[in-house]
Amino acid sequence: MSGAAGDGSAPAARWSEAETPIATLAAALAAFNHARDWERFHTPKDLAMALSVEASELLELFLWKRDGELPPRARLEEELGDVLITLVNLARRLGVDLLAAAEAKLALNGERYPVALARGKASKYDQLGEEP
Ligand SMILES: [Mg+2]
Repeated sequence: MSGAAGDGSAPAARWSEAETPIATLAAALAAFNHARDWERFHTPKDLAMALSVEASELLELFLWKRDGELPPRARLEEELGDVLITLVNLARRLGVDLLAAAEAKLALNGERYPVALARGKASKYDQLGEEP
């Protein structure tokens, strides 16, 4: 994807975390972590690992459930909250604007999964058009 100027540069993000609830959450997390002197533990490696652990804790809630059966709502909210907190902590540590990153990935996915080829199909982008 090239920039609006057609010069191959990345397009300017339309979405940004600045002055959004994500920025508000990030500020609250920074204060929470600072008060506990936890920044020293928040290396990119450990935060990336923690994100995987929190996602696994969410997944664990579904373990051994029957198709369509949901875990208790309160537990889902708790683990989804953990995932978001850890994701925001990691993005902040890396200096990544989550909304701009998501916008860029959505644009890339739009190129990889054109509606004409992908509609109603669960195939990976590099296998679209191969199935009957
Ligand atoms: Mg958790």
